[in-house]
Amino acid sequence: MQKEDYVSEREEMIKQQLIPRGIHDRQVLEAFRRVPRHYFVNPGHLHLAYADHPLAIGEEQTISQPYIVALMTQALEFRGDEKVLEIGTGSGYQTAILAELVGHVYTVERLPSLAASAQKVLAALGYNNISFKTGDGSKGWPEHQPFGAIIVTAAAGSLPAALPAQLAPGGRLVIPEGEGWQQDLYIYTNTAGGLQRRHLCSCRFVPLIEENFGTQENFGTQ
Ligand code: SAH
Repeated sequence: MQKEDYVSEREEMIKQQLIPRGIHDRQVLEAFRRVPRHYFVNPGHLHLAYADHPLAIGEEQTISQPYIVALMTQALEFRGDEKVLEIGTGSGYQTAILAELVGHVYTVERLPSLAASAQKVLAALGYNNISFKTGDGSKGWPEHQPFGAIIVTAAAGSLPAALPAQLAPGGRLVIPEGEGWQQDLYIYTNTAGGLQRRHLCSCRFVPLIEENFGTQENFGTQ
């Protein structure tokens, strides 16, 4: 990376958008310091890469607002060695943040063009603890369960039944739920007594499209 590394933009993003809104986990903040968000936006949006809002990434999808990525990440309270399932790779930015913080990330994206460009950027940045799959993530990724955490980055009408079944004991799952323009972000914990749900905030995500159109798998970023 060169001078246009946007180091000061990243610091400003952390100081102005994350810390004042309650992102305090030092490791989460460090991940935001390390991951070059400008690699994940469209070339025409470079000047907006660290702005306080989502951006279009093509195919009617978006890279999420930095604060929402941070909130979802912090809510998952990672130990550092877990396997994490991400549904909705999109730009791959959230994937990179996860890959900085956990043992291995399994990420699923339904749109092949987005999956391919995210995989390319993440490989170029040197991540080697990410597995990619193109297909309907609402079914989870049963071959690799149980997951210590699951993150869904598109809004579901309700929690897809396949997902909590793939969560390890004590595991956590974060998901936006709701069908309207605005949804609610929830964190679930898989306790001995069943699933416990806590409301985090209201939010706005693109919809989770649940359909089965076949899968193609390829593993690793190397
Ligand atoms: N975290 C991503 C968010 C991308 S938007 C980022 O910040 O870049 C949500 C993504 O979920 C979109 O790319 C969309 O294509 C994908 N998506 C929607 N329904 C899906 C499904 N059933 N399975 C997998 N991905 C899905």
